[in-house]
Amino acid sequence: MQEKGTISIHTENIFPIIKKFLYSDHEIFLRELVANAVDATQKIKRLSSLGEYTGDLGETRVEVDFNEKKKTITISDRGIGMTAEEIKKYINQIAFSGATEFVEKFKDAQDAKEIIGKFGLGFYSAFMVADKVEIDTLSYQDGAEPAHWICDGSTEFEIKEGKRKERGTTITLHINEDSKEFLAQSRIQGILDKYAKFLPIEIMFGQKDKSVEDGEDKEGNKKWKTIKEDNIINNTAPLWTKSPSDLKDEDYLAFYKELYPFSEDPLFWIHLNVDYPFELTGILYFPKIKNDFELQKNKIQLYSRQVFITDEVKDVVPEFLMLLHGVIDSPDIPLNVSRSYLQSDGNVKKINSYITKKVAEKLGQLFKKERESYESKWDDIGLFVKYGMISEEKFYEKAKDFALVKNTSDKYFTLEEYEKHIETNQTDKDQNKVWLYANEVDQQDAFITAANDKGYDVVVFDSPIDSHFVNHMEQKLEKTQIKRVDSENADKLIDKDEQKELVLSEEEKETVKGIFESAIDDKNFTVAIEALAPEDAPVTVTMPEFMRRMKDMQATGGGGFNMFGSMPDNYNVTVNGNHKLAAKILKSRGEERKKGFAKQAFHLALLSQGLLTGKDLTEFIKRSSDILTE
Ligand code: ADP
Repeated sequence: MQEKGTISIHTENIFPIIKKFLYSDHEIFLRELVANAVDATQKIKRLSSLGEYTGDLGETRVEVDFNEKKKTITISDRGIGMTAEEIKKYINQIAFSGATEFVEKFKDAQDAKEIIGKFGLGFYSAFMVADKVEIDTLSYQDGAEPAHWICDGSTEFEIKEGKRKERGTTITLHINEDSKEFLAQSRIQGILDKYAKFLPIEIMFGQKDKSVEDGEDKEGNKKWKTIKEDNIINNTAPLWTKSPSDLKDEDYLAFYKELYPFSEDPLFWIHLNVDYPFELTGILYFPKIKNDFELQKNKIQLYSRQVFITDEVKDVVPEFLMLLHGVIDSPDIPLNVSRSYLQSDGNVKKINSYITKKVAEKLGQLFKKERESYESKWDDIGLFVKYGMISEEKFYEKAKDFALVKNTSDKYFTLEEYEKHIETNQTDKDQNKVWLYANEVDQQDAFITAANDKGYDVVVFDSPIDSHFVNHMEQKLEKTQIKRVDSENADKLIDKDEQKELVLSEEEKETVKGIFESAIDDKNFTVAIEALAPEDAPVTVTMPEFMRRMKDMQATGGGGFNMFGSMPDNYNVTVNGNHKLAAKILKSRGEERKKGFAKQAFHLALLSQGLLTGKDLTEFIKRSSDILTE
């Protein structure tokens, strides 16, 4: 039997087109061929277990090898093999009919991944790197004859009797001039590590050296010798394929190390497992990441039946969960189509909301069952939860019950608990609850202490996401305001409409104001004399909440504020008219002396906020030591 044929498609030669348009992803030829070999092997195993194949299964590894001199790469399997008829049907006709369609549509294709699977071009991706491809195969079927197929990258192929005696298939690629990079141990190993690491059938690639004990020398020292050992590159039963009930914490931690060798242990994980209405398994880990979250995206790997596809999981995983690590495996994600299609795909939408739901459930469970441990992890997981609450309404609805806030005494509250906690003391005259927060606990200590002295509680919002979270929570929580603790004098943070009397006369008040204004002499500081408790600070410098938020938004590129140009730092200087200092300034003699006191008090206020620097600080220190020796 020998037959020559022409692959019947309208276009003379598709291979130059394949080569040209699949340029960026050449390396996936190996993924496609190894995946085919694995499929064929799984099929024979299944037939055998069903009793439909009664021959000896034998060794079922897939072997990848290369020969630098002959410029070949071979992929061999002991799978079901193909008869000549099957080659004609599956390789020539089916794949080529896909190719015909491909040729008509290639103009619109975005990237290689998109084209290959869509048109069943898996096998033909070999021609991206080879100018000649051979198939040597023997079908498992009784009485099957071995077949040899050869194609040089034109539309002509040759098929004849083969010599193969063992069941299975060997694909030989004669690597072309431009693709010589693939004839290197490290390159092939790298591709296999990336795409084949968790394939369900053992993949062998060359050999590796192993040291073994080889007796003892005269002094009793152990002797070692090096032996060659088969190099199996994959773990055929990765953790996500196992049943959660068979697994211990150590197993999950060990698998995490396998995925990310240099990372700290994760905080916890979720084992995903659905088979209806779509099939999906996987493990998502919550990493320890704190604030540098921008750097950590694309740590989730997407697999389809254990074949690595991509680590760009955008659209499949909700944006806020892209910070998680781990693996998702689903044959139901259409991996080979364009992004816009992916977004509107029904399965992808379902998967997306399933993952959101699972993550919310897991967090809710941890919170209920192990509140203490949940609290101890909150500083890490808070970031995900807040990000999720801001960006996904559905997640917000669940997360509002297990989102926590921490106060400056390290006590944790749920949102509802916190509203109750502050209700009595922190409700203003309009029945608004006022939350106070610090974003720099050390720097704002003076304000925190002053607020605490009034019986107010202060929460800590100190991560980059918190400024957005504060805005979001204000919209969500009814009749609630959230203010930074240093946005006003403690006495005025919560307006309870309790007017205090000012001990100064109207005239004295104006005099004190004038002294402070000429001492400060800076139009970005607005002075006001207020009737505060005598024990409150004599002078406080604050930036009004709204002004600070505008600045925050400007800093993070928030919309619309650039039309003002860069905003100056505007501050309010509140002088406590009831503090002894006001009286002292009025009584002291000489304009310079009055201004000196005012300036010292003003600088003290700046100092307590970490705002006193440079010449002002030097001047302040000098004046302070003068006062000490006065
Ligand atoms: P796909 O794998 O998406 O069907 P391919 O072009 O990769 O597309 O392969 C076409 C067909 O050729 C496969 O469906 C299979 O029937 C057959 N085939 C490819 N490689 C092998 C192999 N190693 N052993 C047995 N059959 C194979």
